Amino acid sequence: MSNERPAEAGELCTCGRPAVVVYVNEEYGDVGYCGIEGAAFRPVLPCPWCGSSEAHKEPWGDPGRCPQYTLRPAAKEERKGTT
Ligand SMILES: [Zn+2]
Ligand SMILES: [Zn+2]
Repeated sequence: MSNERPAEAGELCTCGRPAVVVYVNEEYGDVGYCGIEGAAFRPVLPCPWCGSSEAHKEPWGDPGRCPQYTLRPAAKEERKGTT
């Protein structure tokens, strides 16, 4: 069983696009969904989570979510400023 709720700003679908709904799953964690049909076949690149420039695929060829997928990717605000 899983519940769903409206997504909040900053929450992402597995394809990298902003989510519109979030499926709350106790076993696998929360997963966002953008609602765009076929979007999983055209994920946002580079990957918002691991930076890969290639789409993730399951071993059998279906589009796969990033192994590092989280509902909210860590913000990279620390990059700016002096190094
Ligand atoms: Zn999506
Ligand atoms: Zn990735």
